Amino acid sequence: MSWRPETPFFVGDRLRAADAPERADARAQPSSTDVAIIGAGVIGLSIAWRLAASGLAVTVFEREEAGAGASHAATGMLAAATELEPGGDDLLALALESQQQWPGFRAALEAEAGMEIDYRDEGTLEIALGRDEVERLRFRHRLQTRAGLATQWLDGACVRAREPALRPSVSAGIFCPGDHQVDPRRLVAVLLRALAARGGVVLERLPVLALDRAGGRVTGVVTRQGVCRATTVVLANGAWAGTGELFGGALAVPVRPLKGQALALRASARTGIPAHVVWTEQVHLAPKADGRLIVGATVEECGFDRAVSAGGVFALLEGARRALPSIEDMEIEAIWTGLRPTSDDDAPILGATALAGLALATGHHRNGILLAPVTAQAIRDLVVAGAMSGAAQRFGLARFAPAEASKVRYQETSHAAQHQR
Ligand SMILES: Cc1cc2nc3c(=O)[nH]c(=O)nc-3n(C[C@H](O)[C@H](O)[C@H](O)COP(=O)(O)OP(=O)(O)OC[C@H]3O[C@@H](n4cnc5c(N)ncnc54)[C@H](O)[C@@H]3O)c2cc1C
Repeated sequence: MSWRPETPFFVGDRLRAADAPERADARAQPSSTDVAIIGAGVIGLSIAWRLAASGLAVTVFEREEAGAGASHAATGMLAAATELEPGGDDLLALALESQQQWPGFRAALEAEAGMEIDYRDEGTLEIALGRDEVERLRFRHRLQTRAGLATQWLDGACVRAREPALRPSVSAGIFCPGDHQVDPRRLVAVLLRALAARGGVVLERLPVLALDRAGGRVTGVVTRQGVCRATTVVLANGAWAGTGELFGGALAVPVRPLKGQALALRASARTGIPAHVVWTEQVHLAPKADGRLIVGATVEECGFDRAVSAGGVFALLEGARRALPSIEDMEIEAIWTGLRPTSDDDAPILGATALAGLALATGHHRNGILLAPVTAQAIRDLVVAGAMSGAAQRFGLARFAPAEASKVRYQETSHAAQHQR
């Protein structure tokens, strides 16, 4: 089925607000549900879909529209190798687990929704433009090799043989065959359909105002419609998880917003479009099936500011032109910003908390699309079986406050007990 974005040109908050259509009231919320999920980004929706498929009643509460947070802003790279940083072995294990789950996750989703997510498996090229960059790229390749990744070093000629439109000064590259990509906007749309097919409910334009608490545990969520009781509440509200607005001082979640600006260029028969995702030190370029070339992304510490800046757009265009001169003739189709949910160690925060009945799925930083399948699996395991399995176990909130660890283990058991039917 073909798919087109509903808002083909959207930018920072100010312009979006001016252009926004009249907002409809949210549908009526149920009085109770098995699992209430706060936030309909890729993470909240993936979890919801997995839990609904396990037979639980799931309700997702979203302040704006589904995907309106970081998820619609993402490029959609599933970049375990390309994103590898020194000291990132635990995160790599989680990322590889998710990469392995992606084909099955995709197949099930597309089958249930009857729609495609533009999954592309051509792989990713990291390239060097100039001598200094070659040395830094060699370091990255050594890092990947030491981590056991099957990435491949290419000289400049080999890079250009794969991508002839790249600037002739391209002097080396790394081919990462396992780093695929999807279209995050399609992914959100497909998740919504698949979730609806499983009986899950998504209530848009209905912010959660507080957690409902009784007898020492979280017992639901409070919205302007009142209380919706839930056996488990999952906090998947992205960059807003760290504000503490929903639980006051009861829990410290070390997550902050990290702004990213990106843009979409429209390629034509005359300009051509790369076949692979291409990374330089400044930008990444991601070709989509519908002829868009996504250029991303800035990384900016500026709180919840979502303005598009001249400097940001300039850096993206300059970085893209440095690698691919043909972008000069491409039309700019859209410019946007998004707020990555970034934790203190750049890794996600998954699992139970010291507040009984509340689980976390946030802090996915630059990798929320990549990590959606493994996150959904981990939270499903927690809710249905009582504990997370695999690499996800190392990503609990307890790692930021080890003294809380014993409490967290106790809560993991109590989640499953509550859901036994
Ligand atoms: C420019 C850019 C490029 C990126 N590229 C990639 C990439 O290529 N690959 C990749 O893996 N990742 C990428 N990311 C990161 C990725 O987008 C995020 O990690 C991911 O989208 C996080 O998903 P989420 O569902 O946790 O958060 P979000 O998508 O932000 O969703 C959280 C939702 O919670 C809602 N919410 C907040 N408070 C409340 C409340 N009180 N009540 C109800 N709802 C609430 C928000 O409105 C929002 O919709 C990129 C990010 C940016 C900004």
